[in-house]
Amino acid sequence: MPFDKLQSEVINSGLCCSCGTCVSACPLGYLSIPLGEVGSEKKPATKDCPDNCFICYQACPGKNLPFSEMEQMIFGQRRGDEPNEQMFGIYKSHMVTHAVADQIHQTGVAGASVSALLIHGLETGFLDAAIVAGYDKEKPWQVRPFLVTERQGVLAAARSKYGVCSTNTLLAEAAKNYERIGMVACPCHVWGVRKLALRKLAPKITDRIKLVIGLYCLAQNFSLAAEYMITQRMGVRLEDVAEFQYRGGALFGGGTWVKTKDGQEKTMELLGNWGMVPTVFIGYQMERCFVCRDHVAELADLSAGDVWGRHHELDKKSNLGWTGIFVRTPVGQEIMESAIQAGALYAERDDTIAEYYCVNPGHSKKRFANAKRIEYRKRYGWPVPNIT
Ligand SMILES: Cc1cc2nc3c(=O)[nH]c(=O)nc-3n(C[C@H](O)[C@H](O)[C@H](O)COP(=O)(O)OP(=O)(O)OC[C@H]3O[C@@H](n4cnc5c(N)ncnc54)[C@H](O)[C@@H]3O)c2cc1C
Repeated sequence: MPFDKLQSEVINSGLCCSCGTCVSACPLGYLSIPLGEVGSEKKPATKDCPDNCFICYQACPGKNLPFSEMEQMIFGQRRGDEPNEQMFGIYKSHMVTHAVADQIHQTGVAGASVSALLIHGLETGFLDAAIVAGYDKEKPWQVRPFLVTERQGVLAAARSKYGVCSTNTLLAEAAKNYERIGMVACPCHVWGVRKLALRKLAPKITDRIKLVIGLYCLAQNFSLAAEYMITQRMGVRLEDVAEFQYRGGALFGGGTWVKTKDGQEKTMELLGNWGMVPTVFIGYQMERCFVCRDHVAELADLSAGDVWGRHHELDKKSNLGWTGIFVRTPVGQEIMESAIQAGALYAERDDTIAEYYCVNPGHSKKRFANAKRIEYRKRYGWPVPNIT
């Protein structure tokens, strides 16, 4: 049975990244991913999948990841030997940036450049909708994708959610209703969209994806991480939670923040005192993130991340936070230039990168530790992705 192949080789083998690509790719709409879970399920359907339909499996980037072919498709070439290109993928330039408007800058998690770019895209007609990640209304510590079309929607979804978000489940719905779609994507979401395009599995979707803003990604984590932080570390019962943020707070960094239904607020520092980052990322990451090699969303149009290791120096210019951006494709360059010229984004161009990337949390994990982990797993015959 077609779905059984996805289930046995990907989901039950710990290789599902919960990106949601299979859900949008399924022509019959048979699949879904329960909120906060890893792995798609088959909805109760009136008919079985046709015997020869393996689209969910073919679209899935969890096990078979034709990275070089996708690189060739996007950039018209594969990466060369230059050390930075080897390490960060193909890119045209690297900039440190922030939103110019204070209202946007204060809302974002770092430089709010991702939000500023989306708002600029939507307000200039470059985009007519964007897929972002927000918190669930019923369970505000769980993360789900949202489709937004205007500034308020973008701002409401700003800031990093370190829980698993099945962003690509919304691709089909977005493409049904909008022609110029932008999306914010962790590396695995980017692979899903690119693999759909490479294999020409859903042109009605991929033809409408105009801009993919990738996020650097250390890992996505089970929503148990948030539940542990809220209940065990901050002493709040889940039923009392009104609002939650993985990274709340006014200044760059921030920390886990929770507001209860009776208006009390509690915060736990991001890095210090074994606060949010060490705890969430050590204990709760998805299995697939242990064998992921892509830290800086190497196949996106733009890749955005924090500027760890340089924020003390940059704080002297603005202490609200900065976003490092790799500009990779012509489309990425077009929206960047347009946003800078319109005064929506401030950018320090042609920034050097090597000396501070080594302190970025995901860098050593994805590029070095995970490479070794894949070798170990192979030695024991455990499932590993087939990255070619
Ligand atoms: C799971 C995860 C791991 C990360 N790991 C690193 C890291 O190791 N090193 C590093 O430098 N940066 C990492 N980042 C990126 C960093 O946290 C910021 O998102 C980035 O610097 C952009 O900041 P900004 O102020 O420009 O974004 P903002 O303007 O605040 O916008 C952030 C955008 O990201 C979207 N988003 C948030 N969470 C998710 C999600 N889970 N899936 C899809 N979209 C989402 C939001 O909806 C919003 O549109 C990670 C982000 C995530 C989500």
